[in-house]
Amino acid sequence: MKLNTKGLLVVISGPSGVGKGTVRKALFNRTGHNLDYSVSMTTRAPRDGEVNGVDYYFVSKKEFLSQIDKGNLLEYAEFVGNLYGTPKDKVEEKLALGHEVVLEIEVNGAMQVREKMKDAVFIFIAPPSYDALEKRLVRRGTERGEVIKERLDKAHREINLANNYDYIVINDEVDNAADRIMAIIRAEHAKCSRTLDEYLKLMEETNND
Ligand code: 5GP
Repeated sequence: MKLNTKGLLVVISGPSGVGKGTVRKALFNRTGHNLDYSVSMTTRAPRDGEVNGVDYYFVSKKEFLSQIDKGNLLEYAEFVGNLYGTPKDKVEEKLALGHEVVLEIEVNGAMQVREKMKDAVFIFIAPPSYDALEKRLVRRGTERGEVIKERLDKAHREINLANNYDYIVINDEVDNAADRIMAIIRAEHAKCSRTLDEYLKLMEETNND
């Protein structure tokens, strides 16, 4: 029996190249959950195989800036020369329906969400080592040499931000990392601070004395 019908906002974040995207996809490929992915908006050009509205909403810089002006983004950040942001309306709609909404975003954006959404759960995806991180970025092969260096430098700085999160999940194996995230989401639903009021109300309603 699942109590806690309120929505849950889950923020998956961590340094560049740690495999957040891969872990998030593994999570969503699983059956038996109702997680909703929040598709971000970006000014980055689509990579091969990326689909507008599925991987990102690909927009011009002018359109992105206008979305900021209208207050339509829950958070946004510049990352290696491109802008990335979370459309606010969809997140709010889904949370209001009691859904579990997952954001996969870089660390500056995560800290903005931390300020605004006190109930959200923050998960830091961490690399098993710096070597593993560098290998991942080189293997991915989507960026030129200097961009890889820039992303690695950024990652070194970002590791220190882990203490702003509720949980740390080491991405040693994608499936293990996805398992741990699922376990965290389940545990969050069972937390007294989220659930106790609802439980006591239920008990009161079923009390025939
Ligand atoms: P990529 O260009 O590799 O798809 O993404 C670059 C970085 O931007 C990744 O760390 C990714 O998690 C992050 N990112 C994706 N969407 C958003 C977003 O909506 N907001 C923020 N702040 N970062 C995002």
